[in-house]
Amino acid sequence: MIDQIKGLHHVTAMARDAQTNNRFYTHTLGLRRVKKTVNFDAPDVYHLYYADGAGTPGTVMTYFPFPNAARGRPGTGEVGTTVFSVPEGSLGFWEKRFAEHDVTGVARYDRFGESGLRFEGPDGDGLALVETVDDARAPWTGNGVDADHAIRGFRSVAMRLQDTERQAELLAAMGYTEHGKEGAVRRFRIHGGNDANIVDLEAHPMMTHAQQGAGSVHHVAFAVEDRAAQLAVRKALLETGQQITPVIDRDYFWAIYFRTPGGVLFEIATNEPGFARDEDAAHLGEALKLPSQHEHLRSYLEQNLQPITD
Ligand code: ZN
Repeated sequence: MIDQIKGLHHVTAMARDAQTNNRFYTHTLGLRRVKKTVNFDAPDVYHLYYADGAGTPGTVMTYFPFPNAARGRPGTGEVGTTVFSVPEGSLGFWEKRFAEHDVTGVARYDRFGESGLRFEGPDGDGLALVETVDDARAPWTGNGVDADHAIRGFRSVAMRLQDTERQAELLAAMGYTEHGKEGAVRRFRIHGGNDANIVDLEAHPMMTHAQQGAGSVHHVAFAVEDRAAQLAVRKALLETGQQITPVIDRDYFWAIYFRTPGGVLFEIATNEPGFARDEDAAHLGEALKLPSQHEHLRSYLEQNLQPITD
């Protein structure tokens, strides 16, 4: 039984335009850009990280902006909705703000007794805010959203699956417990987590598999404290029959990846060493940071990556 997983670590999605993506997450949603780097496996593409002030695991939304990428076609085998936590009573503020910022797809909903507000990102990204009463995380307030309304971090992700059973078994093996069912949605929760504690599994038996593109979630990462915990989780998951990558150094965390039975790509990422590893905490996300293996490309990348003006 795995008990080292502490909730979500980050969610990584794809976008079309870096500047539009940056404006949406910083100006509209009020998150802090905590890292501007490149996709370590395709360094001519940015990897942008938006989070609370420190890049705390469980708050980190990241994007690969591929210029000219086609929009993804939603389907099964992917995260359909990424849900952020906001304080109780703040959805009215967000409805007004989204109207001012021309945000699309805005609609109220209720799930498991909680009030939510759906909306779309610039590429049709499936996003939502949900009001929570028990979230003590300190928000980033540097972009014009005050502490009474600001996003605290992730609350949950909802995965679309043709069948939820094998994914549910995997979540149980990862330490999640099932907390209820509402319609076609099964809710799972981790105990002792980082407040990004919930995973919802949505059954969509008639839906075809997703075609990923701009606006699609590429993978979802779960948090473990350190490399020792990660190795223990890796060993336990291998014993359940999962095929898992070796440990990969992502500079700000160590990562392992595996394709789950439901088709969703999972990552297990360490809380160490964090985003202040290579720049001052007061200036996170401002300069283009490159991993040592790509530092020789710096002048080329600085000339060819789309400029991002805040
Ligand atoms: Zn990742």
